Amino acid sequence: MKKSILSQIKDKAGKLIESQLLNAGNVLNVRSWEESRLIEIELHLPSVNMRDWRQIPYIKFRVDGFSFRDYSPFGWDEETSTCSILIDADHQGPGSSWAKKLKSGDSVSYFRPESTRQFPHPTDFVVGLGDASSVGHLLALQQLTVPVSRLDMAVVLDKTQSTNLLRDNFSPAINTMSSYDELADWLIKQQYAIANTSFYINGNHQLVVALRKLLKKMGHEQIRVKGFWS
Ligand SMILES: Cc1cc2nc3c(=O)[nH]c(=O)nc-3n(C[C@H](O)[C@H](O)[C@H](O)COP(=O)(O)OP(=O)(O)OC[C@H]3O[C@@H](n4cnc5c(N)ncnc54)[C@H](O)[C@@H]3O)c2cc1C
Repeated sequence: MKKSILSQIKDKAGKLIESQLLNAGNVLNVRSWEESRLIEIELHLPSVNMRDWRQIPYIKFRVDGFSFRDYSPFGWDEETSTCSILIDADHQGPGSSWAKKLKSGDSVSYFRPESTRQFPHPTDFVVGLGDASSVGHLLALQQLTVPVSRLDMAVVLDKTQSTNLLRDNFSPAINTMSSYDELADWLIKQQYAIANTSFYINGNHQLVVALRKLLKKMGHEQIRVKGFWS
């Protein structure tokens, strides 16, 4: 069947964007965290200079024709230009479908990485908070925090198996909570010092707003936030 003029224009525009602005990379490995529907994708991104990553980065990937989604690289190795992303695929959407279909050897297209402007405070105790979509971002926060002993993290992620996987393979500092209420209770119990604790909250907009409000109520001022989806 002959393509409509609109889809011909879209195809041409897509090819133009691809050749002028997008970079190419490869999928090295894909692991599905069955229980939580998190998908871990290991990538080789040869055109990315990871040496400059002093702030937590994000990368806009082409997930379908004209659809792009942001994901947070972590565990990067500047020598080999490799990194991983973790995609929360427990919903319907172009990003989620893309992640479910990816396999080792596939190519990926992405724009030049951008900065979230978040970076760990140089001396404060650092606390990262979020949900399943922000685990990658928090692992990047961990990578940039030296020494890592001054870091604590908590995410809403109600799956025991994923909790063990996270702790054993990525971060013993990460605490998992089954709900916002559990996370809020945990936060209150920690009694973080107001004078020298910096918070980083990411993920679902509602969660980010609620946690910021709670921390403000507790007297905290050093709070950086970025909503990922609503
Ligand atoms: C700077 C930045 C970094 C990000 N990093 C990551 C990352 O590392 N990993 C990651 O998974 N996401 C990350 N995101 C979010 C990501 O860009 C997409 O918004 C998200 O994956 C949803 O895209 P989608 O196409 O699957 O669904 P969409 O088409 O955008 O949404 C479809 C529906 O699903 C709902 N929805 C969207 N996301 C979720 C979710 N996680 N859980 C439940 N329901 C959802 C929406 O409310 C909507 O109703 C980041 C966003 C930003 C701004």
